[in-house]
Amino acid sequence: MKIKVSVLLMDKKGEVLTEIIHIRIGLVKYLKARLVGAFWRYGKLSPLWQNELPLWIVYCPTHGFTITYPMGYDEKIQCRFCLREAYRKM
Ligand SMILES: [Zn+2]
Repeated sequence: MKIKVSVLLMDKKGEVLTEIIHIRIGLVKYLKARLVGAFWRYGKLSPLWQNELPLWIVYCPTHGFTITYPMGYDEKIQCRFCLREAYRKM
């Protein structure tokens, strides 16, 4: 099956871009992504990143499927669009 995924990207200046991509995934991965998040691939969401990180597909009730990566000490998998909105409100 194919899913639509929003990706929050950052260019070389740190400007934010949103890209919509379509990913083909299996049913098991789809269900995993909906429930807890599923590994997608190694990659960079910004040219500012030194190394590639494991990227995950997560399902957010507000933003749908999005790509994220483990953050913080507890390596939480969270929607980056939600995090960005929370950050903006501070
Ligand atoms: Zn979200």
